[in-house]
Amino acid sequence: MSYKLNISARKEALIKLMDEIVKHENEIIQALYEDFKKPVFESIATETSYIISELKSTIKNIEKWAKIKNVTPSIFNFPSTDYIVKEPYGKVLIIAPWNYPFQLAISPLIAAVAAGNQVTLKPSELTPKTSAIIFRIIEKVFQHQHAKVIEGGVEATQKLLAQRWDYIFFTGSVAVGKIIAKAAAKHLTPITLELGGKNPCIIDETANLKLAAKRIVWGKFLNAGQTCIAPDYILIQEKMKSHFIDFMKNEITNAYGENPKDSPDFARIINEKNWHRLVSMIEPEKIITGGKTDVEDCYISPTLIEENNLDSLLMREEIFGPLLPIITYKDEKEIDKIISKYEKPLALYVFTDDTKFARKTILKHSFGGGCINDTVIHFANKKLPFGGVGHSGIGAYHGQLSFDTFSHHKGIVKKANWLDLNLRYAPYTNNKISTLKKLLNWL
Ligand code: NAD
Repeated sequence: MSYKLNISARKEALIKLMDEIVKHENEIIQALYEDFKKPVFESIATETSYIISELKSTIKNIEKWAKIKNVTPSIFNFPSTDYIVKEPYGKVLIIAPWNYPFQLAISPLIAAVAAGNQVTLKPSELTPKTSAIIFRIIEKVFQHQHAKVIEGGVEATQKLLAQRWDYIFFTGSVAVGKIIAKAAAKHLTPITLELGGKNPCIIDETANLKLAAKRIVWGKFLNAGQTCIAPDYILIQEKMKSHFIDFMKNEITNAYGENPKDSPDFARIINEKNWHRLVSMIEPEKIITGGKTDVEDCYISPTLIEENNLDSLLMREEIFGPLLPIITYKDEKEIDKIISKYEKPLALYVFTDDTKFARKTILKHSFGGGCINDTVIHFANKKLPFGGVGHSGIGAYHGQLSFDTFSHHKGIVKKANWLDLNLRYAPYTNNKISTLKKLLNWL
């Protein structure tokens, strides 16, 4: 590798990055607003403050995370000292989506830089204002051979993918994830794929419905439903449905008022294409509440939908917008049947007071991560791995795992010379075979 930076130089770059982000925080918030009317609170909580906290924690822990780690040696290698060296992969490509356009571009960049890589970052073209400010900040902080931003859309990404990389970190849709995996396979480039899916939100008859509704409304309509871990559909015990709907209607009004279009706290759909995609999923006769739309403002109100057809357009793919289908179940068997109809989701939520049911649900289904009695918040704990499984992704990151994701872990045995047991060397006499067997039995 031609370009290697020691820990203190990486740390210095991260401190400079933090200074620039802090200095430009208002501009970033403004860019996010111009891109899709992202509410100020949400921009601070999920983009700028989130990143500043990530920078602080990385700067604080970088020496610890990068340190050579001694491990217990194997008796077979006696006498030896064994350890793990974390080595930067080299040239890393990061491709980011539009839905959290600042956070999901900068968060992997921080980890890749901390781990000592050279980074090329491709932000989403669908949030041009945010992409532009990311470009300006990275240009100011880094030398080109250390980290740079390439702006552009599909064509620009395809050009980047045609090059050879040492690691590719992609956040986006399942469909594009497959394109990335194919391009990476050509050079056997290791990848992380942070994708999406249909995230079930199960509510049983013991759940605190009022609180569940409050937490689901927040997690679903945050970023106007354009969150990879937003609840995609509700699975509710049939007896609870009408009560739950009443609570949901109340909570939507509490959060966004009678007309969410006037609320400064409700974002817009990213563009007309996605607006049309979402509107085409709405069957008007199934609307419980909401269903108000305005193409010129890329607006769709928080919408609850009574769904009984698992093959409807709404239930066929990840919704990724403020439409929430409510489906009823009779018993656990029905829950299992519905969930297993879809690919493994990125998140699963279960609202219940029944600890056994919660535990069973969490263990029974395969999904990226999730919560019991809440939505989305597992994202906020840096100690929890964040990533999907199956179609919802490959690999995970956050906290130290982010640093580890961008490092190759090299296992080393340092053999001592003061002793050299003869057992492993040929000729393998019968005596040696019986000693080996005894040793294996003893261990
Ligand atoms: P996307 O897959 O359309 O785009 C992501 C990136 O890929 C963009 O930078 C885009 O320029 C590029 N791209 C698009 N088409 C391409 C092509 N044909 N060839 C090469 N590159 C291409 O995703 P999006 O619409 O930006 O984001 C929404 C999706 O991302 C949702 O499915 C959501 O669930 C998922 N997502 C996942 C996470 C996670 O952490 N797992 C986070 C956010 C979003």
